[in-house]
Amino acid sequence: QINEAEVVAFSVPSYACQRRIALDHHNTVLADALSLLAENAELSDEDGRGVAFRRAAAVLKALPRQVTSMAQLKGLPCLGGHSLRVIKDVLDNGASDEVESTKRSERYKALKVLTGIFGVGAKTAARWISEGIHTLQQLQASGHTLNRAQQAGLEHYDDLNQPVTKAEADAIGEIVEKAVVSVLPGAQVTLTGGFRRGKLAGHDVDFLITHPEEGREEGLMPKVVSWLVKQGFLLYQKTTRNSYLESKDGPAQPPSNIDRFERCFSIFKLEKQATKQAEMPEDSCSFGAHRQVEGDDTCLQTDPQSCSLSPIQTGGLCRRASSEEGQLEETEPAGHKPWRAVRVDLVVSPVSQFAFALLGWTGSKLFERELRRWAGYEKAMSLSSHALYDNNQGRYLRAASEEEIFAHLGLEYIPPSERNA
Ligand code: ATP
Ligand code: MN
Ligand code: MN
Repeated sequence: QINEAEVVAFSVPSYACQRRIALDHHNTVLADALSLLAENAELSDEDGRGVAFRRAAAVLKALPRQVTSMAQLKGLPCLGGHSLRVIKDVLDNGASDEVESTKRSERYKALKVLTGIFGVGAKTAARWISEGIHTLQQLQASGHTLNRAQQAGLEHYDDLNQPVTKAEADAIGEIVEKAVVSVLPGAQVTLTGGFRRGKLAGHDVDFLITHPEEGREEGLMPKVVSWLVKQGFLLYQKTTRNSYLESKDGPAQPPSNIDRFERCFSIFKLEKQATKQAEMPEDSCSFGAHRQVEGDDTCLQTDPQSCSLSPIQTGGLCRRASSEEGQLEETEPAGHKPWRAVRVDLVVSPVSQFAFALLGWTGSKLFERELRRWAGYEKAMSLSSHALYDNNQGRYLRAASEEEIFAHLGLEYIPPSERNA
């Protein structure tokens, strides 16, 4: 029996962007449980609920010790009734019924399988599920017309659902660097996204490109892309041009967190020998069951039964499930090809906006959302990946570094490795 009076309650600030959240923390089991419910909400197109669970998980990630009793949580921000019930369930029983039944539910499994296709979002997946499509085989048999992204996504399904390692990210970084300096000497490439936060695996690799002379970066993306295409590095690409300048004097754009940089969503063809030492640890599942669960680097499934993609859904391709004694075993011809497909995001920013773009593309997604919420609610400022506007002063605030942006916002500087909210 715990004496409530002796329990010291934890304390954390309200906004995730006020906290230092490293990749390793003391409450993985609880945070994973809440992250799974967040993911399920997002996959079900319930973003509000998703954010609530993400915020709750981010509070637990920030605690200095493992939670052992509910009394320690008294007064903590962002923990609603639903999250508290889940936490209590895990503390009392070692697992949450809601989480476990979600993981087992046909709907969740089908949403995972279908949104595992690059180019398929929650809405499309839900529509297909309502037509009785739960697997890739059923999708293919349905005769649905897929767009170009989805076709590429299906074609490279297994590769794209296998986490990208840091070594692979570095190998791709070298290729991107080579492409960029070939078409514009002096241009600079920066690794952003999860890898900049120190993650060891990710669902894609994100790069930000700029040139120290303002304006020289204009029109850079098409040149980089055509260099990459010519060299045979791209299996798919969709380039979008910069629309930020146009939007300034054009009609008011709907408010959006999506930025307007010149960008390219692509699928790289990475030669396996280009990756020095990119192998997954043997005890991790070769499928990215955690693909959309932020801050969850390792698939914790240790037995095939609990891999969230069943062999039937993946066409019998789950290596773990199909192997006899945990030995990795290639069961499909694609495993023998000398290359693999990797999702890569490229963004070009003018140097005057570089700090904002870097901050905006480093993530985590919740950290970014919380920064914007802090800026708006606490400082009457509008933060985007392009700029920071001070509504009280009626002017834009310049910044040449992330440190300056945090200072403008009245926040303590948080380095990338501690933005893993
Ligand atoms: P993962 O390892 O799963 O890739 P990640 O943190 O790198 O994790 P991404 O989805 O690659 O996740 O996103 C990286 C960052 O880029 C995030 O901060 C996100 O807010 C930002 N971002 C992603 N897509 C867009 C977009 N369309 N417009 C603006 N910012 C985006
Ligand atoms: Mn990423
Ligand atoms: Mn990305």
